[in-house]
Amino acid sequence: MKKELIQINGLSFKYDEDGDEVLSNVDLTIHEGEWVSIVGHNGSGKSTLAKFLNALLIPNESNVVLVEGLDTVNEENIWEVRKRVGMVFQNPDNQMVATTVRDDVAFGLENIGIPPKEMVARIEWALKRVNMERYTEYEPHRLSGGQKQRIAIAGILAMRPSIIILDEATSMLDPIGRQEVLETVRMLKKEDGITVINITHDLEEAVNSDIVFVMNRGNIKIHGTPRYIFQQTEEIIGAGLELPFSLEVQKQLKSKGYQLSNACLTKEDLVNELW
Ligand code: ADP
Repeated sequence: MKKELIQINGLSFKYDEDGDEVLSNVDLTIHEGEWVSIVGHNGSGKSTLAKFLNALLIPNESNVVLVEGLDTVNEENIWEVRKRVGMVFQNPDNQMVATTVRDDVAFGLENIGIPPKEMVARIEWALKRVNMERYTEYEPHRLSGGQKQRIAIAGILAMRPSIIILDEATSMLDPIGRQEVLETVRMLKKEDGITVINITHDLEEAVNSDIVFVMNRGNIKIHGTPRYIFQQTEEIIGAGLELPFSLEVQKQLKSKGYQLSNACLTKEDLVNELW
């Protein structure tokens, strides 16, 4: 049985006292080493939930948000939780803080007072892990969007986190950049055992994850393996999400009387099934 890394028990939240609930009674468990997708349309509460996962938002009661057993309601746990849960955000340009790639990756380490020798080793290691070691002296603004996101990931990796959250981190990237980032975190999960939480409005990105949570109106409507989730077409449409390309094609084929033997998750599955 895998270790539970994140437990959320009945989390509800409003930004304004007399406003609507943005999260209502969310329960969520994430295990060590999993690749998790949290999928929902804009405004469904994904980013708000992510902020609770790395203690940018704090619940009112104890035992509602636990990260590696640390209750985020306790002030003394907050910095530890932020160190263990790294976040990559949507806009790569907003995340570059220094004039060289090296200094950018060093930024977080300087803040937590890592000694210079160890800092050099960590930076070198982190840049290698994201395949950007040749760019150490580059100015970040000269890099592509995908490369910038990989530098942001290196900055997080250098802090030795157990969990990386991508909050719509691919949504401003071109297809190549998107592929680079997803491939990088896939490898970090596989080879370094890092738990990856990918927050996205694009169900297509969830195809390779271990588990998918579908959010709608501040709640988790369904969860399960991609194979299970991709079969819940009514729920997907009800949550305001677009069907992934392969599902849309299958739906159209079915309506024209074609029977496919398998539920095809990817475009490649579909091509194999049809030809
Ligand atoms: P998502 O990430 O799924 O797009 P968000 O968590 O960003 O959803 O937003 C959920 C709801 O909370 C939306 O209605 C949004 O307008 C509202 N919201 C988000 N951030 C704030 C904030 N800082 N203050 C007030 N309302 C907010």
